[in-house]
Amino acid sequence: MRCFGLSADRRRCRAEAIGSVGYCEEHREELDRNGERIRQEPDARGERASLLSHWRPRSDRDLIPDDARFNVPGWLKRSPVPAVIDRLLHDPNPTTRWLAAFTLRRRRDPGAIEPLWQTLQEDPVSLVRQQSAVALGKIGTLAVIGPLVEALWHDYDAGVRQACAIALGNLRYPTAARELAGMLEREQAAFVRWDCALALGQVGDRAAESLLSRSASADRAEVVRHACEQALADIRRRQVPR
Ligand SMILES: [Zn+2]
Repeated sequence: MRCFGLSADRRRCRAEAIGSVGYCEEHREELDRNGERIRQEPDARGERASLLSHWRPRSDRDLIPDDARFNVPGWLKRSPVPAVIDRLLHDPNPTTRWLAAFTLRRRRDPGAIEPLWQTLQEDPVSLVRQQSAVALGKIGTLAVIGPLVEALWHDYDAGVRQACAIALGNLRYPTAARELAGMLEREQAAFVRWDCALALGQVGDRAAESLLSRSASADRAEVVRHACEQALADIRRRQVPR
């Protein structure tokens, strides 16, 4: 299995994952350094079962709420996950691929991370990629950070980049703060910068404070300047007094 980390240019790492944790040695060390909880859990049921248990959301309380409703056709609703994944990857009709991504979003099955990442990289229809990004966010385990950051940096559609920024904010993994801060500086679309600023406030990493201060006075869009101020206030409110 290929590593779920990203290389320096924010493309998927080319190394093989070690053991059952889904990352190569280098990325595992980096996640450790960033304080992300990642642990190897040998499992008699085999690598895949072990991986899935490792990737379960930390607790029900951590599940990202999702009140989206859509009239998914009954045949798709009743399909097992592998059949839905097959539609996502291979159906020639973009509406069916979108519906498959939406169905996987509702199921929150970590086994769908790999095909959703592939869709986010390759599907020619931006709405399908966008729905795949939302689905990854709802699965919500550490392994979805790689695909969301890669698309945040490289997808040519602003709507997809926006979905990634929103998802990374909701997930609140500290390791995403540096990526969101980088995008706040280089992103052209004001509404995406706006979501990056809000997401930084949600993640609450103090490393983003100086950049947010700068953007709060220098960003060319008033809504973004305002969002940066809001994010700074959120971060400072949550700081533990020393
Ligand atoms: Zn790696």
